[in-house]
Formats: sequence, C-alpha cells, structure tokens
Amino acid sequence: MPEAMNAHLTASFFDSTKCFIGGRWVAPASGDYLDIENPSDGTVIGKIPRGGKADIDAAVAAAEAALKGEWGKMTAADRGRVLSRIGRLVLERADELARLEALDVGKPLKQAKADAIALARYMEFYGGAADKLMGQTIPFLDGYTVYTLREPHGVTGHIIPWNYPMQILGRSVGAALTMGNAAVLKPAEEACLTAIAFARIAEEAGLPAGALNVVPGLGEEAGAALTSHPGIHHISFTGSVPVGQIIQRAAAQNIVPVTLELGGKSPQLVFADADLDRALPFLVNAGIQNAGQTCSASSRILVHRSIHDELLGRMAARYGALTVGPAIADRDVGPLVSARQREIVEGFLGHVGTAEIAARGKVDADAPDGGHYLAPALIAKVTADHKLAQDEIFGPVQVVIPFDDDAEAVAIANGTEFGLVAGVWTADGGRQMRLAKAIRSGQVFINNYGAAGGVELPFGGTGKSGFGREKGMEALYGFSTLKTVAAWHG
Ligand code: ADP
Repeated sequence: MPEAMNAHLTASFFDSTKCFIGGRWVAPASGDYLDIENPSDGTVIGKIPRGGKADIDAAVAAAEAALKGEWGKMTAADRGRVLSRIGRLVLERADELARLEALDVGKPLKQAKADAIALARYMEFYGGAADKLMGQTIPFLDGYTVYTLREPHGVTGHIIPWNYPMQILGRSVGAALTMGNAAVLKPAEEACLTAIAFARIAEEAGLPAGALNVVPGLGEEAGAALTSHPGIHHISFTGSVPVGQIIQRAAAQNIVPVTLELGGKSPQLVFADADLDRALPFLVNAGIQNAGQTCSASSRILVHRSIHDELLGRMAARYGALTVGPAIADRDVGPLVSARQREIVEGFLGHVGTAEIAARGKVDADAPDGGHYLAPALIAKVTADHKLAQDEIFGPVQVVIPFDDDAEAVAIANGTEFGLVAGVWTADGGRQMRLAKAIRSGQVFINNYGAAGGVELPFGGTGKSGFGREKGMEALYGFSTLKTVAAWHG
C-alpha cells in the first residue's frame, strides 16, 4: 500500500503517491506506482504515481479550464504576488526540500540546499517580473495606432530531468506562470519528490487550481503523452540529446514551439597569465559538482602548454583530496543517480586508452554497498578528438588538454558538437573580449565559471546543446507570444 510505504515522506507535508491535477490530489488512473530508490544505499524509500495518457489528458483539461477561470483572469500583479508567496514558503522549507532531494537523487545536502534556495529565488525573481514585461507602440501610417501585446502561449508542457530538479522546475515553471500560462509538469521518474512537494507549496500559497499540474511517470508514457498532446501550446525540455530529438519531432506534429536545453562539453580555457589560485576551485568544482551530472559541467580544461604541468599537478592534488559518500554525509561528491548512470560513466572510463588517469578522488570506506559511488577521475594526455574529450559523460570526469596559442584554444573550445557554457581565465582584457566573441556558446564566463547559478542570467545552448533561452528576463519572451494590434481610426 503506497501510503504506508511512504509514511516517512508523507509525515512531512505532502503525499508523494498522488498526481496534482486541477487543484486535486489524485491517484494515477492506472493504479500503478514506481519505486523511489535512494541512490546512496540502493534502498526503496517510497512510491510515486506511474502517470500515463489518461492523467495527462486530465491535466491538460485542467490547465485549459484554469486559463478560462480564476487563473486566466488574474492580473499580472496578482500572479506576481502568488509567485512571491511560493518563494517565501520554499525558503521556509528549504531544509526539508534539501533533505528530500538528497534522499531522492543522492545530492549532497549543501548542494541540495543551494538548489532549494535557487528555486525560491526563481519564484522571487519571476514574481517581481510578472508586471514588468511591456509591449511597444509602433510609429506607423497616418490614421493608425499600432501596439503590441505580450500574451501567454496557453498550456505549457514541462519535461524536466533528475539532475537539478528544483532549479530546472523553478526556471521553467516560474517563467511560464509569470506570463500567465497554465503548466503541466512531468518530472523525471528518478526525481519526483521535490516537484510534488513544490505543488503542495504552490497550493498552500494560493495558486489557483489548474495553473500548475504535476503528473509523475515514465518518459515514454506520461512524457510522450504530454509532448504529443494536441492541447499543448509550448514545450520546454531539459535532458539528453536523443530525447530532445524525439520531443522536437513530437512538437513538429502539432507545430508547437519548443525550448530544448540539452547536453554540453563545456570548456574552461586557462591562459599563462591566469590567477591560478582563484581559478583552481572553479576548475575542479565545475567538473565534480553534483557528481558531474550537470548540463553545464565543465568537462574539458584547456590549458596553455607553458603552465600545463603546474596546473595538472595542482588539479591532481585537489582530486586526490576529494571525498565521495552518502548524500546525507555531505561529502564533496555523492553517488551517481542510478546504477545505470554509473555503468555509463564506467563505460567511458574504459576508453581511456593512450590517455592517462592523473588522479582520482576517494569513496568513503564505509559508504553503503548498494550506493552508486564512483571516484572522480582527472584525465591527462588527452587529444581534442578523443572520445572522452568529445562525448558528454555526465559523471565526475574531467580531461585536461594543452594548447599553444589563442587560435588553437578557440578551435579546441569550438571543436565539439555542443555549445552551452565556457570559461576564460586570463588577465588580458583584450583577450577576454576577443574570446568571449569567438567562442560558440550560450554563456561565457570570464575569470569565474557559472556565476553561482545566476537566476538572472539567460541560459541555453547552440548546436546540439539546444536552443531557446531560459532564466533571466529573456525567458519571459520565450514563454509568451507577441500580438500586433493595428487600429485605423482615421
Ligand atoms: P537522462 O538520460 O539524463 O535520464 P532523459 O533525456 O532521458 O535524460 O530524460 C529527461 C526527461 O525526459 C525525463 O523527465 C524523462 O522522463 C523524459 N523523457 C524520456 N523519454 C521521453 C519521451 N520519449 N518523451 C517525453 N519525455 C521523455
């Protein structure tokens, strides 16, 4: 009986066995459930609904009804107030949400807490932005007044992954609700707890029924039903390239705009004049944060040959000191999310070939046997075309590649099929500006990497990293459509 199994989860403030549809907590139509695995020890800690087509149909109908009802009639200022209230409640529950995320996906507690705070920030940021996106008046022919209206798409579908469940929910659902869309969210099957908890918080904050609907379930079932649903007017997807391709095809059938945030092979370029003391923690953290299961992980370190050996030695020393253990123990690195994910990463490490493992972190001796632990690996003597330097690994693995001059550094940086994020470490202002332009990437960071997540900063890719921008004010354009009104009055 799912409720009993979930006793320690429901003891908090929500029931993980229910879908949230039209403001009601309902069992999945199929009556089927999926196990929640704790990646830190491999135990089953509860169940989530195995939602399917019938639940998605009900959620889309509820979203349509919300647009015609209280939610659709709300002023932008009132939408902003609700989002801000959600943000406050998320902050109050940040510790509880972090604990849930740690249990559910193996994320070390401090990193999970940072995600909960980022979720609150998205609600605050978008809550404050709800009444600030304005149209234009356009000078036109004599006798006309022309202006533009920013309007919601309607029902938005959100498919999110398991690596940053709270942050990706926040940026995608937050921007969609701000613009007055009604959202249907299908969280990843490995990571539904905080999405369901978020729906409960949104309900408590007074979000009108149907504005947000959450249907947990499998990608090929609930996910496919959502992306191919004719009642969906916009799809936002973050995940792998192959699933992004499936989703773009599904969207093509209904001619629906999509935002795709896919993988990356993001480089950091380190020049001889870089401040290495400042750079080092960024260089390593960007590879091992969330066990490397990060779209914007920096998995390639490109370094000027004159400082290659020094940098490699200093990075290797940091790797040697990295600890890996259960999420609750809050080590530098937690387990990978699943046995399958660990197998994939180990498979990549089987391709080291002529390259060399320069250093590895250490898994706690008493880490539970059933956990999906993998010691982070720093790889040297890698050529730019090596499989480990080209493919997204999605694990705690970084490669170090030397370059001789700026042109070669840019060519290597741009030499993958991805283009999500890049970092440039140099004291030379001219080089900073030249490289920021020359690197093909959705974001470029100069003498930092990631800017602590920056909810204000537009984010998205080029090439196989996807298209469309989430985060910041820019996302609000993607989650709305523009109407031009031309009035002739003589
Ligand atoms: P990963 O490989 O990292 O698990 P995926 O791209 O497979 O990432 O999954 C990201 C999200 O896409 C998850 O919510 C998953 O359920 C969903 N998904 C997977 N397959 C499909 C599909 N065929 N249609 C719609 N959504 C899907």
